[in-house]
Amino acid sequence: MESLLIYVVTAVLMIVIFLPYFLKFRKQQKADISRRAEAESLGIIRPQSQYPMIDQARCIGCGSCVAACPEDDVLGVVFGKAVIINGIRCVGHGHCEKACPVSAIKVGLGDITTRDDIPITDSYHQSNVEGLYVIGELGGLSLIRNAIRQGRTAIEKIALDPIRITEGEIKDVIIVGAGPAGLTAALSCIQHKLSYLVLDQQGPGGTILQYPRRKLVMTHPVEIPLYGWLRNTEYTKEQLLDIWEAAIEKFDLEILNHHKVNTVKKDGEIFRVVTEKGDFYAHSVVLAMGRRGIPRKLNVPGEEMPKVMYQLIDAQAYNGNHLLVVGGGDSAVEAAIGLARQKGNQVTISYRKHQFFRIKKKNEERIGRLIKERKIQPVFDSNVLEIAPDAVKLRRHEEVLQIPNEFVFVFAGGIPPFKMMKEMGIRFGGETRAWTQE
Ligand SMILES: Cc1cc2nc3c(=O)[nH]c(=O)nc-3n(C[C@H](O)[C@H](O)[C@H](O)COP(=O)(O)OP(=O)(O)OC[C@H]3O[C@@H](n4cnc5c(N)ncnc54)[C@H](O)[C@@H]3O)c2cc1C
Repeated sequence: MESLLIYVVTAVLMIVIFLPYFLKFRKQQKADISRRAEAESLGIIRPQSQYPMIDQARCIGCGSCVAACPEDDVLGVVFGKAVIINGIRCVGHGHCEKACPVSAIKVGLGDITTRDDIPITDSYHQSNVEGLYVIGELGGLSLIRNAIRQGRTAIEKIALDPIRITEGEIKDVIIVGAGPAGLTAALSCIQHKLSYLVLDQQGPGGTILQYPRRKLVMTHPVEIPLYGWLRNTEYTKEQLLDIWEAAIEKFDLEILNHHKVNTVKKDGEIFRVVTEKGDFYAHSVVLAMGRRGIPRKLNVPGEEMPKVMYQLIDAQAYNGNHLLVVGGGDSAVEAAIGLARQKGNQVTISYRKHQFFRIKKKNEERIGRLIKERKIQPVFDSNVLEIAPDAVKLRRHEEVLQIPNEFVFVFAGGIPPFKMMKEMGIRFGGETRAWTQE
């Protein structure tokens, strides 16, 4: 009798202790299954750069990876195993890899023969075209620390090349792009006494320049050649830009701003780097152009007006305006939220789909609130027809809406420079599939 009582008490205790966990786990799993199904139907499971590769045989489905990921929705647990839910959102922080107690996750590029967006390079980031290197986010790995490491590795390799006579205008190295990867490569050139030139279509800073004001950037300690260590794990956008600015000034980096590179041609042993403002020559070329590419345009009348912009750096600069945001991703939604919070703004967001579907939960909640408060007017299923100096015309189904407008912000994504790279002769991962099938 006594032992039966002990069993019953133990069973009751176990139910009381474990039932809430079980119910919570079941609820989370149900949500993850439906998020995974939705993500599959939207085609957003496939990551854009590095991503968490999960060894299903080892995974114990504990969910530590899900909890460790600082981005929303990248991972979930379905039927007791970790799965990728929204691969596009992975930026490769690698926290999931560290958090996994059974080493079942590795963050990387995976099998690149399935990737048409990853150029083939060797361990020094040299492409199949000898002397032509691809570094930083353009090579497939995002994050500032990867860009810095790769910038250094590529130049260390070039410094080991047989000594070549650099005469007249021919440089040892031309670096295309002045983001973290390109700037690191330039500093490494100075360190290795190589002549170099950096060309950038805008000014130095790369993607960091496009971050919203005061954005917190997460990073890991990493050494910038000549400059020293970035030791913190968090910097604001402004602090990071100050660091690069200080390095540029201290080492007097040779950068030509507003020089967009259109192509790179190899004439014998020499590369000719073609820009709209003239050609430049080098023995080696390092491509550090990032993946943002050229912003996708709407191709509508009036788009050439200066009131049309493709990024929003400082929402506080807009007050008392009629504003149109075009797009439905996180960048568009964050811009609309930022603008709607400023005094006197009337914000309209035009999106061609019937709802926002791939935005962070946090953004979904915030925009939902602002829509309810009538601070943002969403116009789904719509396209911009025309932009005039003081208005915009949108088409929604058969209807044409005319809205007063002072500024337009377009967030329609970018076109990465893959076509240009293929014309340079650079081969991509997916092509190896074709060779092996020949
Ligand atoms: C919103 C957002 C948040 C992020 N947050 C973080 C974070 O918290 N931590 C982190 O580590 N990383 C973060 N990243 C990623 C990080 O910014 C990138 O991985 C990093 O900037 C890549 O550096 P890069 O030098 O390879 O390329 P980029 O920084 O993209 O620089 C490329 C440069 O090439 C130039 N260029 C492009 N095409 C041409 C051309 N044809 N001719 C001449 N110049 C050209 C561009 O003008 C640009 O200056 C974030 C990215 C975004 C978009």
